[in-house]
Amino acid sequence: MRARIVGACGVLAAGVLAATLRAQPPAFDLVIRNARIVDGTGSPWYRGDIALRGDTIARIAPKIDAAAARVIDARGHVVSPGFIDLHTHARRGIFEVPTADNYVRQGVTTLIEGPDGSSPLPLKPFLERVAATRITPNFAMFVGQGSIRDQVIGSVNRKATPEEIEKMRGLVRQGMLDGAFGLSSGLFYVPGTFTPTAEVIELAKVAGAMGGIYISHMRDEAAGVLESVRETIEIGEKGGLPTQVTHHKIIGKTNWGKSADTLRLIDEARARGVDATIDQYPYTASSTSIQAALMPAWALEGGRQEVLKRLKEAARRAEIKKETARIIMEERGGGDPQNVQLARCDWDHSLDGKRLGDVTKGRGLAVTLDNAADTALWIVEQGGCQGIFHAISEDDLQRILKHPATMIGSDGEVPIFGTANPHPRSYGTFVRVLGRYVRDMKTISLEDAVRKMSAFPAQRIGLADRGVLREGLQADIAIFDPATIRDTATFEKPHSYAEGVDYVIVNGQVAFEGGTMTAARPGRVLYGPSTAR
Ligand SMILES: [Zn+2]
Repeated sequence: MRARIVGACGVLAAGVLAATLRAQPPAFDLVIRNARIVDGTGSPWYRGDIALRGDTIARIAPKIDAAAARVIDARGHVVSPGFIDLHTHARRGIFEVPTADNYVRQGVTTLIEGPDGSSPLPLKPFLERVAATRITPNFAMFVGQGSIRDQVIGSVNRKATPEEIEKMRGLVRQGMLDGAFGLSSGLFYVPGTFTPTAEVIELAKVAGAMGGIYISHMRDEAAGVLESVRETIEIGEKGGLPTQVTHHKIIGKTNWGKSADTLRLIDEARARGVDATIDQYPYTASSTSIQAALMPAWALEGGRQEVLKRLKEAARRAEIKKETARIIMEERGGGDPQNVQLARCDWDHSLDGKRLGDVTKGRGLAVTLDNAADTALWIVEQGGCQGIFHAISEDDLQRILKHPATMIGSDGEVPIFGTANPHPRSYGTFVRVLGRYVRDMKTISLEDAVRKMSAFPAQRIGLADRGVLREGLQADIAIFDPATIRDTATFEKPHSYAEGVDYVIVNGQVAFEGGTMTAARPGRVLYGPSTAR
């Protein structure tokens, strides 16, 4: 362009050239200097500068002196790819808080929704709504097997007919065409729990043929966890697609230690060529609804009205209560009603954060197992609550975290700051791994942790243009101080942001700096491998 102007205007050449040079935009929009680059691949960190142009990483070199519209001095802090969270419930909150501060402040730049078998149907209008809501992080979806089954068969305990299976396969296909990265299941939940393995495989085949993966909240994470890992592997193997155990954990004291066996199953599957992987959040408590966690699945068939009817029949109620007491003792209850915490009760927010034992006492009852079970059923009758369940061991958590096929996923949501008592994983998952498990306990290395949060999840769902710091890739970047990064959210005070993150860049734009979110909302909807456009 410049040469043409100079050539065309002979005598004016010198003056025009000078003016043109002055008007030239700087070579780069942003240069990050003095970086300790952890590139996402797991390779050891190295020193360098990173230059961005638009939404792209334009150059990485030991030193970049070219002019830039903006320079960030990383002061020797870590510069890594932005984190990719493969398991979020971000549709809880993303429209109220489109900046998703709780995630972005941790360095998370991509949220993936639709886990546990639950997604909006159809996906297309939902994704259009996300795209129209200027959000800060990128956003992607799985399509949910439970939602599909619910739409075709309802919340009933029976096998699908061949016609229904065809219909469900059609909905998986549509989900993939609409932009999903794969099929999720929640075989623990209603109606996923009513699904025979063979039926899931038929649906998984459709997702697999279209380049998707299978990701599962397994049927049982307690006494039956080994059988459930076998099932997850079988679905990947027979469905012909990568398969992932999501938020892998071992629930209930009597089952602690079984992660040694579940990981062996994953290793054996991988050794024979099954692409089986894991994700995990770094907490010893889980979170789901009180009814799903503490009531037997058979008692939940048919929806809320059926559940309430069952609870009114004395004999059935006694039967359910007995099973709920057992679950409190051996599974999600962690062996003590005080290990069950209420996270959010929409019918009485004064209960948010309280323990089941204390709520039982508050009803004028002695804190026996039987009375705690009765209180749990009473809670369901009042309208149900989201709960937090302290029933996971630190040993299992660390064993799973160290496994090379484990990546990090929060299982969190986008909370409205200060509202209810959510699981702290929404605010702390990624920085807790980097603070507690990398720096303080040295469970895994910094490079391995970053790999589990960036390149690995990107590769898992086929995001070839993100997750690694490399020239030509999309500029999703986190800059943080490895000496101070930490989670501050606790089970008692969950509404507390991450510390130690200096900058977060999404698609080349600075979304977080100096402790505050910027006005930029650069997030994009990311579409899966078979999206029809
Ligand atoms: Zn789940």
